[in-house]
Amino acid sequence: MSKSERAWRRSVEIALFGYFMALLIGITIGHVWPTIAIAGALLLAGYLWSVRRLLLLLVSRRLIPKGEGRGVVDRLQRVLHRRQNESRRRKQRLIRMLRTFREAAAALPDATLMISYRGQRILWFNAAATRLLGLDYPRDIGQPVTGRIDIPRVTAWINSPNREETLQDVPSPVDPSVHLSFRLIPYSDDQALLVVRDITKLMHLEQVRRDFVANVSHELRTPLTVVHGYLDMIEPDEQPEWAAMLDEMRRQSQRMAQIVEDLLTLSRLEAKDSLPEERIDMARMLSMLGREARALSQGRHQITVEALAGCDLLGSEKELHSAFSNLVSNAVRYTPEGGSITIRFELSSDGEPLLSVIDTGYGIPAQHLPRITERFYRVSNSRSRETGGTGLGLSIVKHVLNLHQGRLEVESELGEGSTFSCRFASSRRLESAIEDEGNGEHAVREGAGGSPMAGTG
Ligand code: ADP
Repeated sequence: MSKSERAWRRSVEIALFGYFMALLIGITIGHVWPTIAIAGALLLAGYLWSVRRLLLLLVSRRLIPKGEGRGVVDRLQRVLHRRQNESRRRKQRLIRMLRTFREAAAALPDATLMISYRGQRILWFNAAATRLLGLDYPRDIGQPVTGRIDIPRVTAWINSPNREETLQDVPSPVDPSVHLSFRLIPYSDDQALLVVRDITKLMHLEQVRRDFVANVSHELRTPLTVVHGYLDMIEPDEQPEWAAMLDEMRRQSQRMAQIVEDLLTLSRLEAKDSLPEERIDMARMLSMLGREARALSQGRHQITVEALAGCDLLGSEKELHSAFSNLVSNAVRYTPEGGSITIRFELSSDGEPLLSVIDTGYGIPAQHLPRITERFYRVSNSRSRETGGTGLGLSIVKHVLNLHQGRLEVESELGEGSTFSCRFASSRRLESAIEDEGNGEHAVREGAGGSPMAGTG
């Protein structure tokens, strides 16, 4: 029995109970028919009163307009009929809108899948998903995403906490020459959009750009070496009036050669997905960096090396050495005479190895910080050139760290100094090959004079 039927039955029961009571009272006082008539009139008055209240309520809530109907029930019927029509029209409008949205999503050139976030099942997908991912409608609706897009990189990405970062350059399961990018956009607690784009053209352009830079750099190398060689052959003493000019020419050709070398290094790093990895003896690396810093500084700065981590690193020694040297060279070049430079290797509170180069130099204004790792981006052009900078050093550092899944963190205060830190995952930490005596903590401080002295860190 429906709720409405039950309500109707209850009303009938109340009416019958009223009449029964009236009958009893009528029999008791000896006036049956007048008592029943009064009871009927009271019941009718009660119903009319309820209907009035209902109508007033509907008007006050603006569900129906004010106005006259022929009778109360008639008016009520018309009102309900109008409401029904209105809600039917609204429903149709919503269905039309929903259909338009679906059609728009279906026409998108990017493969778009609606998936349940936790269950990772496919709820809906457009035609591009069939073209780019080989999905089949309706067979794949309700199927697990990773089962239907059977690419190990995608499975690993979708199950990782970093799934909200875009996954780049994945070959399409339909045609491996098509390169795809995957992006997951959650839009409710349990649903997300998986947007898959064809980035083949973009990848091709990127490759053309890389090849172009690599080829130009390579082509420039030989003529520069020749110019450099001839310049070296000219003795300034033989041509004293040319001495200043020759000196400048030598410096500029050296700068160009350095730019070409840095561009070639960048191209080489860009072409790689990973690097051969080995144990890096950090004690040796730190003392090498300290020596380099002292050679560059030539006594103009106070140089300190702090080995506090007591561990080694897993990575490519050659590339990481070049990255760390870049940071050390920047610290020396952008710190005025008398300043101090600290090279520190420590473990963060989360146990992540952290190599920091801390200086008390010129510092970098906050608005430049987000861009300093871009190629040729310089805070001060003149200062960079004067000190022999190419504007490529930090790009190289960023690339090397990316290849080690590491991050470059920069903190700087104008006029106070800068801290450049290379942060690595704790999985790159290796027990130090040389065990420290005593408490096992390996801590060495080297002062400006270069004499190692034990410290606790
Ligand atoms: P450059 O060869 O010009 O030094 P980099 O890529 O190494 O190029 O650095 C980019 C810019 O960042 C530099 O031009 C400089 O303005 C700024 N910079 C880098 N390191 C430091 C530092 N330790 N202190 C102040 N500024 C720095």
